[in-house]
Amino acid sequence: MSEFLIRGKYLVTPHVNSDGVSVLSEHGLHQKNGRIVKVAPFHELRSRFPHLEVVGSDRQAILPGLVNSHYHQGFSFLQLGQPDRTTDPYRSQGAWDVDPYLEHLYGAMQMIETGTTTVQVIYDPGRGRDPLDELSTSKVIKAYLDSGMRVCYAPEIVNQNTIIAGPNGGEREFAARLPTDLKRRFTRFFDKEHLPVEELISRNEDVFSRYSDSNTRLRINVAPGNVHRCSDDLLIKLRDLALKHKTTMHIHLQEWYNQLLYGLWAWGKSPLQHLNDLDFLGPNLDCVHSVWVNDQDIETMARHGVSVSTNPTSNFRLQAGITPIYRFLDKDITMALGTDEVGLNDDKDMIQEMKLLHKVHRLPGVKTPPLTASQVFKMSTINSAKVVGWDDAIGTLETGMSCDVILMNLDHVEYPFLDPNVPTLDAILYRGRGIDIDTVIVEGEIVMNDRRFTKFDKTALYRELGRIAKLPLDPIKSELNTLRHEITPYLGIFYNENSTPTFNSEYIFNGEKNS
Ligand SMILES: [Zn+2]
Repeated sequence: MSEFLIRGKYLVTPHVNSDGVSVLSEHGLHQKNGRIVKVAPFHELRSRFPHLEVVGSDRQAILPGLVNSHYHQGFSFLQLGQPDRTTDPYRSQGAWDVDPYLEHLYGAMQMIETGTTTVQVIYDPGRGRDPLDELSTSKVIKAYLDSGMRVCYAPEIVNQNTIIAGPNGGEREFAARLPTDLKRRFTRFFDKEHLPVEELISRNEDVFSRYSDSNTRLRINVAPGNVHRCSDDLLIKLRDLALKHKTTMHIHLQEWYNQLLYGLWAWGKSPLQHLNDLDFLGPNLDCVHSVWVNDQDIETMARHGVSVSTNPTSNFRLQAGITPIYRFLDKDITMALGTDEVGLNDDKDMIQEMKLLHKVHRLPGVKTPPLTASQVFKMSTINSAKVVGWDDAIGTLETGMSCDVILMNLDHVEYPFLDPNVPTLDAILYRGRGIDIDTVIVEGEIVMNDRRFTKFDKTALYRELGRIAKLPLDPIKSELNTLRHEITPYLGIFYNENSTPTFNSEYIFNGEKNS
């Protein structure tokens, strides 16, 4: 049983049922057993509950815990030996193999220390491995729960085109052009992941049976990997699985130009329009990235109430392009924010991601006003909570919501001087940093106090990760690395040999032919 008051110079909260973000001066909140009982001026709470412990001070801002709507793995590609590359095979994770528990505890640690309290993990164990392996599933989930975070766990499910899709087809078409021996090894390696649809669905169903309702900080969601990576039959059955369990669903969509070109090759239309043909679109669907969409796609998404998670740093680092965010906002499409796992500082810092989101969409000229601080805060709190299906409990600081709170030290933000007319939300977004997060509370439990983790030993975690890094590669990783190098010369030809079909990117940053 926990009960305490939280005090801040400001309390910042978006609202469930209205636009905008409130900034309340000298407010606090009363939490009991993980729930927010009341938000009120702090002096009122103090006089009513003089005996309760107080967390926070008048030098801190109380903010809702940040929600990272899209993320995959604890170590970055770079840490694992793979620098950023555009083409898919280079994104099949790097040379090293790390225990999923330690790797994801490391990821959780980076998120907690920069203010993220909830993450959606689209779990991909790496190429050539079983995406629904029971042991890794249990380790990954345990890592987040042990750290104190909330986690939405969604195994990334695919059954074709694991790494290749473009204007000339997918993996089968690519393999047909390889020398015989390489074709055999390439096909055998990637086919290991391509399990029958019925098996994928029944084992995904097992994840629901084992984990749904097992912990108040855990949700299970559904994640078809990408449109070209799933057969139609698999997409439809995953859609039905999500509807049956009343969860949200997350699919990578038109992240790279090549994925759009694959759609034009395979179906004569964009992958989004193909999803529409399958009756796949609905308000429980989050289309991640959505960079290469046109106005027709956006109209269709708006009509079906689809939301979009954007990952600005990932899109830059992986040379994907820029999500046409104003066009989505014009259509009242819910926009959420995630880090993928390729953050600006090669970490999982949502505050950095918010800063980039805030700046990157500024179109030249004066016609389009930039995103506001309120829009950015909403995308990284209540909107992300909504797209992961948890907006009934997190994303705002209102009575009845879970006490998922972060406290930001304002010393750096306000001192030695800040013009008092600067709106507080702008000051926090422009000047606040991950390192300014002092305290992190999840469900009324303090999981980081004065920047010290309360649930695990950071030093021991680093020591163990360092030890594991010295172990030899496992056979699957070795085979993948060999294949990756051998197919590279053929890949450029496969992607580039036909003239590229024209497609208006609809967004000034993404092409040369925009009006
Ligand atoms: Zn992703």
